[in-house]
Amino acid sequence: MDVEDGRHFRNVMDDNHPPADWEAKLLRAITDGTVDLLQASHSKGSVYTGAAGVAYVLLDLATSGLHEDPPAACREALRRLEEAEAACDPRRVTLLEGQAGCVALKAWAHNVLEQHALEEQCIRRLSQLADRATALPDGECEVLYGRCGFLGAVLLVRQRLEDPRLLAAPAAELVRQVITTGQRQARDGWPLYYEWHEKCYLGAAHGIAGILHTLLQLPAELALAGSDAANLVRTTAEKLMDCRFRSGNLPSSLGNSKDRLVQFCHGATGMVSLALRLSTDSKDSHHKELAQQFGQTVWIRGLLRKGLGLCHGIPGNGFALLKLHPGELWLNRALHFAVFAIEHKDDLLPEADRPYSLFEAGDSHVLPDQPLLHEKPPGSGGCCVLLGRRIESC
Ligand SMILES: [Zn+2]
Repeated sequence: MDVEDGRHFRNVMDDNHPPADWEAKLLRAITDGTVDLLQASHSKGSVYTGAAGVAYVLLDLATSGLHEDPPAACREALRRLEEAEAACDPRRVTLLEGQAGCVALKAWAHNVLEQHALEEQCIRRLSQLADRATALPDGECEVLYGRCGFLGAVLLVRQRLEDPRLLAAPAAELVRQVITTGQRQARDGWPLYYEWHEKCYLGAAHGIAGILHTLLQLPAELALAGSDAANLVRTTAEKLMDCRFRSGNLPSSLGNSKDRLVQFCHGATGMVSLALRLSTDSKDSHHKELAQQFGQTVWIRGLLRKGLGLCHGIPGNGFALLKLHPGELWLNRALHFAVFAIEHKDDLLPEADRPYSLFEAGDSHVLPDQPLLHEKPPGSGGCCVLLGRRIESC
């Protein structure tokens, strides 16, 4: 493999066509990868790097038609979530890092099993956990550890339980807090401004992109936060887009001139979802073109060496490409990333910090994107570039 800059492999793949035998390769990878994942042990409980991430995989497979016994997968997920919740750091309040993530996934599992009383119990428990999120220090707004991370759990249960009104009161309060904090810190042309650990991060995990993307998915709560709140989010997003390098990538933090990282947590990857969301809301072509520009950066520089997780591995970047589907070009590109990850698994696995976790993983590339595997559009089809729905919700 040809390593271009120490961080990623040179991309010489032909995106005019999907990779050969991609469907068989992905299905086999899902089967083998799931076996590996279930045998791995996790000391942590979180979705991000712990046992709850395995539960997420099981639930995703169970609800995408790719598990032979969906009820058994849900029961196994619940068993693991029980242990995961106990192992979670009680100070953490988010979908990715904390009990809220475990409880949200339990609600999803109970929903699939049609255990509606237990599902409601989980929603009540989330409502209690929301008190911890609203009590966070003022500045804690980002996705991995802050208020938007709890809102990620809200978005997940709303989506999975198909009820957009769930947890309306805590969601409204958290959105109000995030807007108020951003306004209070506004500066230098930023209508909303956020820092994490005294640094203005721009990307999807700790930064402004993730915060804005979360807020845009909560339009009713934004409207309650003030007549100008939605406009503040959109104008802040424009300011963020203006920060991009000439290369099309995004700096990891404000004032950082190093154009290095292209991954979910930092760089262009997280901007694809944000720009697409803006284009859907405003129905203009400008944001769609911006999304494609960010996607182009991901395509060129996104074959990362560091493991196969969602946060800073090839699958997270593949998912950004998949988000740009429909369009055969982007689907081909996403499929190439998925198959590349599978075919280089043995080389990439040792590079991961936590090989069997979801976000820093070796094996998280095995998940399906449900609609595509089912639709099978002509000349295209499924993709194992995973956990799209989760990234979208945080
Ligand atoms: Zn990362």
